[in-house]
Amino acid sequence: MPAGPPERDSAMPAGPPERDSAMPAGPPERDSAMPAGPPERDRPALPLLVAENLCVSFPAGKGQRLIAVEDVSLSVSEGETLGVVGESGCGKSTVARCLAGLLRPGSGTVSLRGEVLGARRTTEQHRAVQLVFQDPYSSLNPRLSVRSVLAELLVFHGLAQGEAVERRCLELMALVGLPADALDGYPSSFSGGQRQRIAIARALAVEPQVVVADEPISSLDVSVQAAILALFADLRERLGIGMVLISHNLAVVRNICDRAAVMYLGRIVEVGEREEIFTDPRHPYTRALLTAAPRLRPGPDRVAGVAARLRGEPPSPTARPTGCAFHPRCPRAEPVCATQRPELLPAPAGSSRMAACHFRDETQ
Ligand code: SF4
Repeated sequence: MPAGPPERDSAMPAGPPERDSAMPAGPPERDSAMPAGPPERDRPALPLLVAENLCVSFPAGKGQRLIAVEDVSLSVSEGETLGVVGESGCGKSTVARCLAGLLRPGSGTVSLRGEVLGARRTTEQHRAVQLVFQDPYSSLNPRLSVRSVLAELLVFHGLAQGEAVERRCLELMALVGLPADALDGYPSSFSGGQRQRIAIARALAVEPQVVVADEPISSLDVSVQAAILALFADLRERLGIGMVLISHNLAVVRNICDRAAVMYLGRIVEVGEREEIFTDPRHPYTRALLTAAPRLRPGPDRVAGVAARLRGEPPSPTARPTGCAFHPRCPRAEPVCATQRPELLPAPAGSSRMAACHFRDETQ
């Protein structure tokens, strides 16, 4: 193995530019370079990973608590991708950390195949749910070659020994679309997209049942975002694992997810099948996000939706509005919205899609 990290090769692509994660950003809706969307298929009967009633809050000084996540329940099945979408600060990354066992919720549970995962997960349980971070560079050790990173994991978890380690490392490189000689490189010698592929290979090395990807393309150059999304879609199909894709961009969720959960100020405000959410949104916030999503070509819905665009910034989680937390920004709000908090209920009645709005039965 190489003795140490090489100097950055000026001929190699530099890291991706930093980008503002504020909405809207990212690839345009239905970009032809992006995956065409998940294929239709029968839903697996049993959920793989289930979160129930997750609540997370943090001290915010002066006796206040910042409620980051409130009563969030969601699930993902084998071979399914669930998208979790919302503006920066809505709590989606906190949910991701709870799912991956990096953060203990104040209350609520996370279960894997029906088994509740305790506050201290076993090594096997940690293996089962892997997190892919937004910034691949900060999540990789700059002093370790790709081979060292992968080999260490394979040996530690007893997944390969001796010559099988190298074979598995080569398999992982092929799986994420990198050449074999990438194993000799160090994080600094790769482009942002290549580093994210390495981070994905590291997650896959431990043979997880669920991959939680927290904004996996938002720190990457636009030119490589579609390729990384296509890789996620391909891996989901080939490996049959469950995926939770966290994104601030509805266009990303629309392109590769089977179901979507929309979060606002720590709560899920709408959840359902992808097509239901995108063709018949029942929550004004979902409608506003859809309107704000960039498109290649302006269309009638874009023009008509201007009035539904978001007003202002989300309120502070330490000073949540009364009633429906979205009411100060909602174009549909009525007096009842300021006093009564809507529950997440089927919309329409009997449907598996749910929305937290007093007027959830109204269509657009
Ligand atoms: Fe808007 Fe009222 Fe529905 Fe909240 S409950 S989303 S404020 S219409």
